[in-house]
Amino acid sequence: MHVLASDFAEVVEWRRDLHSHPELQFEVHRTAAFVHAKLTEFGCDDVVSGIGRTGVVGIIHGRDRTSDAVVALRADMDALPIEEQTNAPWGSKTKGLMHACGHDGHTAMLLGAARDLARTREFNGTAVVVFQPAEEGGGGGKAMVDDGLMERFGITEIYAMHTEPGLPIGQFATANGPFGASADGFRIKIDGKGGHGASPHASVDPLVAGANVLLALQTIVSRNVHPRQCAVVTVGWMAGGRAGNVIPQSVEMGGTTRTFDPAVRNLIEARLIAITESVAAAYGAKATVSYNRMFPPVVNHGDETAFAVEVAKSLVGDANANDTLEPLMGSEDFAFMLEARPGNMMLIGNGDSAPVHDARFDFNDDAIPFGVAYLRRIIERRMKLV
Ligand SMILES: [Zn+2]
Ligand SMILES: [Zn+2]
Repeated sequence: MHVLASDFAEVVEWRRDLHSHPELQFEVHRTAAFVHAKLTEFGCDDVVSGIGRTGVVGIIHGRDRTSDAVVALRADMDALPIEEQTNAPWGSKTKGLMHACGHDGHTAMLLGAARDLARTREFNGTAVVVFQPAEEGGGGGKAMVDDGLMERFGITEIYAMHTEPGLPIGQFATANGPFGASADGFRIKIDGKGGHGASPHASVDPLVAGANVLLALQTIVSRNVHPRQCAVVTVGWMAGGRAGNVIPQSVEMGGTTRTFDPAVRNLIEARLIAITESVAAAYGAKATVSYNRMFPPVVNHGDETAFAVEVAKSLVGDANANDTLEPLMGSEDFAFMLEARPGNMMLIGNGDSAPVHDARFDFNDDAIPFGVAYLRRIIERRMKLV
């Protein structure tokens, strides 16, 4: 490695500074300004802010530009609405907000790689460093893609990394194909005809229709999805009626669905709507379904994943890079970027720490040298100088 240990100390300082100043969703103004200032200071060839509202992009040309390859690296910048309980000296200075998902570490490591790449430029092509807002449920990744991220910078492939508690420091893990689940939401309203509880024959009871809809929805996973595929359909709430002697006018319910396969996702949406409408109709009620596609599944691409694993192995040895990770049930909005371009998402070990989204979680700075070197090597090996 060309970098000195002292260079990592600087990255640790950035990480702790970012940790002290958590920001939510698209409102990552200080963080984005910090990133913009650093990329400018490193001498990136171009730095563009305001992509996908508060996203920042840095462009670094290699020493040789005879190749058309444009390889992107992505980090996320946003924090969570959680009251920090780490007692770290660099703990959050903003009450009620904290970096509980390691995005401070992701941003700092990508800045470290950008600094080294801008300094050495040992590659043939163009590196694009992408810093996105609103990963935590805000769809910042989609906002950047919708804003023309891929076309505007001519990105040909893209890589990302996420911290993983429980995976030892100095280890990496990923898998070809499914990596993270889709996460969609749905809301159902069933309208009947309200009336007196003593006169059911004169009303259309939406609660009975709704109860049957709820049960029938359980058959999507058990009867429609292929037994070797996996999926979740959860109705998380149901509400209707207020008095024991009144048949209400309507009932509502809502829930979430998860799967790893785009075709299964389509199947779930279609069956959910068809079952709900027809079961409600069987009881003389009328259902309105809104199915909200929020996050697609994170699906890693074959070539890029094989390459990313090879890079990880070159850094930490074969035994420390797992390429058969079980898919995670959580969602990640890097999924939108992987729908737009081939690429890979990699987990990097955070050691024995609290889980992400826990008030006691803190990104482990010992992972920084591994993360910075990994990202840098993705660029240098994918766009090799000859
Ligand atoms: Zn998170
Ligand atoms: Zn995260």
